[in-house]
Amino acid sequence: MNAIADEKLSPALTTLPSDDLRQTMWRFADRYDLQMLVQSARGVARGPVARLVANGARNSHEWTADKASLLPHFDESGITAAFLDPEDGGFIAGPKNLALALIAFELSWVDAGAATSSLAGNLGLAPIHERGTPEQRARYVANAAPLKPGETRQQVRAAFALTEPIPFVGVETGMLAGKVRIAEWTDGREPLLLVDKRGRFITNMGFANVVTAAVESDDPKLKGSCMVILEEGDPGVWDRGTPTKKLVHQLSSTNDPVFHLKVPASRIVGGYTIQGGVIIPNYSHSEIIEAVFRRTRVTVGLMTSAKLLSAVEPVILYHRRRFRGGQGAPGTPRYELGIQQKQDALHRLVDIWATGEASASLGFAAARLFDELDPLEKEKDRILAGKKLAGRAAFKEMAKAQEEALKLLGTRQPVESPLARVALLDSLAGVLCPACKLWNTGHGANMMREAVSLMGGYGVTEDCPGFLGQKWMDAQLEATYEGPEAVQRLQLSITMTNPLFLAQFQQWIAEMKRLASDRPGTGSCALGTAMNLWLWTLHHVQTAADADGAKLYHKTRQGVTFPLADALCWLLAARQFILDVIELETKGAGNPALAGGLAGTVAFFTDLCHVQAARAAGEVGRISAEIVHGYNRHPAWDEAGCHTCYGAEELTALEGIIPGMDASARAYSDVAEPGEAHPPKAGPCVKCDGLEGFVSLRAKLDTCLTGCRLAKDRAAESLTKVMTREALDYPA
Ligand SMILES: Cc1cc2nc3c(=O)[nH]c(=O)nc-3n(C[C@H](O)[C@H](O)[C@H](O)COP(=O)(O)OP(=O)(O)OC[C@H]3O[C@@H](n4cnc5c(N)ncnc54)[C@H](O)[C@@H]3O)c2cc1C
Repeated sequence: MNAIADEKLSPALTTLPSDDLRQTMWRFADRYDLQMLVQSARGVARGPVARLVANGARNSHEWTADKASLLPHFDESGITAAFLDPEDGGFIAGPKNLALALIAFELSWVDAGAATSSLAGNLGLAPIHERGTPEQRARYVANAAPLKPGETRQQVRAAFALTEPIPFVGVETGMLAGKVRIAEWTDGREPLLLVDKRGRFITNMGFANVVTAAVESDDPKLKGSCMVILEEGDPGVWDRGTPTKKLVHQLSSTNDPVFHLKVPASRIVGGYTIQGGVIIPNYSHSEIIEAVFRRTRVTVGLMTSAKLLSAVEPVILYHRRRFRGGQGAPGTPRYELGIQQKQDALHRLVDIWATGEASASLGFAAARLFDELDPLEKEKDRILAGKKLAGRAAFKEMAKAQEEALKLLGTRQPVESPLARVALLDSLAGVLCPACKLWNTGHGANMMREAVSLMGGYGVTEDCPGFLGQKWMDAQLEATYEGPEAVQRLQLSITMTNPLFLAQFQQWIAEMKRLASDRPGTGSCALGTAMNLWLWTLHHVQTAADADGAKLYHKTRQGVTFPLADALCWLLAARQFILDVIELETKGAGNPALAGGLAGTVAFFTDLCHVQAARAAGEVGRISAEIVHGYNRHPAWDEAGCHTCYGAEELTALEGIIPGMDASARAYSDVAEPGEAHPPKAGPCVKCDGLEGFVSLRAKLDTCLTGCRLAKDRAAESLTKVMTREALDYPA
C-alpha cells in the first residue's frame, strides 16, 4: 500500500518543504539552470529587498535612490536577463514562462513590489518580444540585457502603457483616448507619426527610457489601432507624470505619464504595410495585448501563492512563542505550543497552507503549459505560412485541427499532429491562465487576511514578521492589475465552454475517480463528484431558462457565468495539487535528498489535498445549487407547491432527529403527510423540472466529504510538531 492510501500509519511531517521537494512537485528537478535562478532570486529577495522593506522604504510613493538600488541587483543576479533569449543577451534557451514564474515567486515571498519592478520591464518589452520586427527586437530587447564589463550603451528599461486616465481605458481596453496621426509623409521616405498618449498607473515610469503604448488612429491615412514604441529623447513631450499614491507594491514605481512625441512609423510594433496610400499596422493593439497578457498573468497569480506559503512559518513561530513567560515552564504545552493549543488557530493555518499549495500548483502548471505551447505555436505559424494561410483561412485550418483533436480524444488516441496539439493545449491555456490569475489572487487575497488575523495586532503593523500586513494589501493589487477579476471571469465564461476543454475535463473526472480508489486520502472522490456537478450545472444553464423564460447562459448574465467560472477555478487548483503530491510521492522516492522526510511530507500534503478538495467541493456545491435552483421562483407555502419535494420530506428528516418536532412543525407549515400523493404542480419541483440528476449528485457530493475533517485534524496536529527555524531567514 502506498503512503497516500495508508491513512492510519501516516508518518509525521518533520520539516517545512525543502527546495528538493519543490523542484519535484513543480517539475524542475532536471532543470539545473532554473534551480540556480531560484537561488539567485532568493538571495536578492531575502537580502537587499527584505532590508529595504524592513527599513521602511515602502513608506514613500516616489521612486527613491534606495528603490532604484534594486535594479543593479536584478541585473547582477540574472533576474533581468532571464526574460531574454541567448541571442539577445539572455542565458535560458527556449520558453521562459516557468523561469519567470519562479523568479516572481521568490521575490514575492518577501515583497511583490520588487517582483513587479522586475516583471514590468518584461511587460514593457513583451509586445516587441511577441510581435516586434527583427529590427525592433534587436534595438530594444537585446539592449535590455545588463551591460557587460566595458560596455557603454544605455540599457533599455521598459514600461507598458495601456491604462489611461478616466473615463478611458481600464478593464475596457477598447476605449482608447491615446491617438496617433501622421505628422509628415514625403514621397519615398518613412512617414513620421505624432503620438499623444496619457497613461494612468504605469509601472516603471519613474525610470523607464522606453515605453510601449497603445494608441488608436486619428488619421484616415492610418488604419485602426496599434502599439507604438516611444523613447526618452524623441522630439516632443516626455513627461513621467506624478507618482501614484498607492497603498501597495511601493517598491515599484508607478506614475501617470504624458507623451506628445514624434516618432518614425517603424516604431509601430510588428511593422506595417501601405495599401492604397494608407498605413496598415500588422497588429492591432488588442492582438498584441492578448498575446502578452496570456503569459504574464500566470506570473502574477504566483505572486499571491508565494505570499500565502511564506505566511506559514511566521505564523507557526508566533503562535508557539506567544505564551512563553509568566507561569509557563519549558516542557509544558502552554510554553511549547502557545496558541497552537487552540484548534481553530491550527485549522485556519491548515486552510491557508492548503490554499497556498493549490494555488502554487495551479500557477506552476499553467507556466509549464505555456512552456510546452510556445514552441508549438511557432511551429503552427510556420505550417500555416508554408500553406500560405492567413486570416480566415488560417482560422478555418485551426477549426479543422480542433475537430481532429476532439475526435482523437473521443477515441482515446494520442493527439500528435502539431496543429491538433496546439488546439488541444490552447484550449487548456485559455482556461488555466485566467483561472490562476483569478483564483490565486482573488481568493488568495481573502486568505491573506486570514493569515494576518492569526498574527493578532502584530498582523496590521509594519513590524509583523513576514511582512504579512503589507502582503495582504499587495495581494489586492495582484487581483487588480493586468486585468481585474471581472476580466478573468469574462474570459473564462467563454473558454470554459470550449468542447475541447470540456472533453479533457471529462477525462480528468475519470482520473479523479480512479485515484479515489488508489488514494482515497487525497479527497479525489469528492473532487471528481464536484467536477461532475459543475459539468451538470454548466450543461443545464446552457440550455435552461429562468422563471421568466430568459436564457441563463448569456454574456450579459454575469450572475450565472461568473460564479461558474469561480467554481471551476476551485476544482482546477485542488486537482493540480493532488497531481503534484502524487508526482512528489512517485518521483521523490528515487531522490536520496528527499528520502528522510518524504513519507511524512506526502502524508501531510495528502491531508492538505483532502482539506482543499472538500473546500472546493463545498464551494462548487453551493454555487451550483444557487444557480440551478435560484432562477426558479419559490412557491408560497400556502400555494400548494410541490409538497413532496419542498415540505414533507424535509420535515420527515428533521422529525427523525429533533424530539417533539413533528406536531408543531406540521401544524405550522401545513405540508403534505409523508406518502401522500404528489399534488398538482403549482411551483417548481426537482422531480417535475428534471433536476433529479442534480439533486442526487449533490447528495452524493455530501457523502463524498467522508473523512475530510479527520484529515484536517491530522494536518493541524502536524503543525504542532513540524520543525521550524529559530527565526526567519530575512529581516523583520
Ligand atoms: C499599482 C498599479 C500598477 C499598474 N501598472 C500598470 C501598467 O504598468 N500598465 C498599464 O497599462 N496599466 C497598469 N495598471 C492599471 C491596471 O491594469 C488597471 O487598474 C486595471 O486593469 C483595472 O482598470 P481600472 O482601474 O480602470 O478599473 P475599471 O475599468 O474602472 O473597473 C473597476 C471595476 O469595475 C468592475 N468592472 C469593470 N468592467 C467590468 C465588466 N466588463 N464586467 C464586470 N465588471 C466590470 C470590476 O469590478 C472592476 O474591478 C496598474 C494599476 C495599478 C494600481
